[in-house]
Amino acid sequence: MEFELKYNKAQEEFRDEVRTWLAANVPDGITARPRTFEESYAVYLKRRELGRKLGAKGWLYPSGEKQYGGGGLDLDRIIVLEAETARLGLGLPPYYDSGGKMGSASIRVWGTDEQKQRFLPPIYRGEVRSWQLLTEPSAGSDLAGVKSTAIRDGDVYVVNGQKIYIGSHHAADRYWTILVTDPKGKRHQNVSWFMIDASLPGITTQPLHMLSAQSEGETDEFGHKNIIFFDNVRVPADCLVGGENNGWKVASTHLEVEHSGQGNIRTNPVWLALLAHCRTQQRDGRPLIEAQTAWPRICSVLPGRRRWRTGPAPENCTAPAAPISSSTRPAPRVPSKQVNAKTLPATNLRASSAVIWPAKAGTITAPAVTAPKTKRASML
Ligand SMILES: Cc1cc2nc3c(=O)[nH]c(=O)nc-3n(C[C@H](O)[C@H](O)[C@H](O)COP(=O)(O)OP(=O)(O)OC[C@H]3O[C@@H](n4cnc5c(N)ncnc54)[C@H](O)[C@@H]3O)c2cc1C
Repeated sequence: MEFELKYNKAQEEFRDEVRTWLAANVPDGITARPRTFEESYAVYLKRRELGRKLGAKGWLYPSGEKQYGGGGLDLDRIIVLEAETARLGLGLPPYYDSGGKMGSASIRVWGTDEQKQRFLPPIYRGEVRSWQLLTEPSAGSDLAGVKSTAIRDGDVYVVNGQKIYIGSHHAADRYWTILVTDPKGKRHQNVSWFMIDASLPGITTQPLHMLSAQSEGETDEFGHKNIIFFDNVRVPADCLVGGENNGWKVASTHLEVEHSGQGNIRTNPVWLALLAHCRTQQRDGRPLIEAQTAWPRICSVLPGRRRWRTGPAPENCTAPAAPISSSTRPAPRVPSKQVNAKTLPATNLRASSAVIWPAKAGTITAPAVTAPKTKRASML
């Protein structure tokens, strides 16, 4: 039986068009693994520029409605775009845009016409990048347990609280976030979603080094997330999306998109790498992929892959290309030097939203290693 997907004629023609365009527009070094903050920033800028070019063609968010700057493309063409960018080691968007992907999907479902007109075009055209701000120190898996508040005061909501494990390097323009709008209300009936301008006064970002991360925040040295503090941030009331205290319904849209892989339909590169490994590695004079005993193990990899990120590999599976379990992962290379805000390039500092490196306390010894606690693996 043949399981391989085959393109129809229109898809083949579109693939040729996309391939030609990408060959002309994807700059060298865009998928290079950065070793330092500066390299990471240079790669990020290339990715944002490519994003804007893709956005101008409607290829950055190909499923977004045309009237809001999306591509308005059908699934046949979206599959081709996803496959062709994945072939080059890129995604759509080619930079970390969690708030754009899941925020735009939620706004399409829950936003007013005016909000769609205001929020969607800059995302779809690659003019802004957005992060999702869900997790709090006491609310991870239990998202309904968030404690950060947004209290109505005339034309604004006043936001206070803290979000953790957010984003990547190089800041964002907007934050897509869930906050408590009725502190006395019942659980699930007390939250609302906001699309917040990240440059508002009162927002502070504290970098958080990770043992591992897979967005553009990663360098050879460590991965990068952030803690975001809100101190009396005055957010215009028309940034609340989906109705006050109706946020748990909006959350169901957001989480549905996130749990289905943020809407991505591209091939899994880990799976492809494993197949390539099994084709080239020999066992008893034959490629591993031809060994019948290897098949159950190979087949167990895909569903087990996510679990391996947080625990040991399944007992019956010892496929050699499997991701390394945390117990055998080599120790991270950590810089021993002191990191100080003054020694960092100005590019790490946003003009209006103060990015403090290190934390408010002053100088710390880098990195402040945080044990990764993963549950929502699709975020990685
Ligand atoms: C690399 C990385 C990137 C991330 N990126 C983002 C981001 O961009 N934005 C964002 O908002 N968040 C982000 N997160 C946070 C992520 O969403 C949380 O880590 C996740 O939701 C789990 O929450 P927690 O870490 O508080 O763990 P907890 O919720 O405290 O869970 C700890 C353990 O308890 C288990 N557990 C929890 N509840 C139950 C239960 N009821 N029954 C049984 N077992 C339970 C969990 O399975 C887990 O093993 C990121 C995290 C990581 C590690």
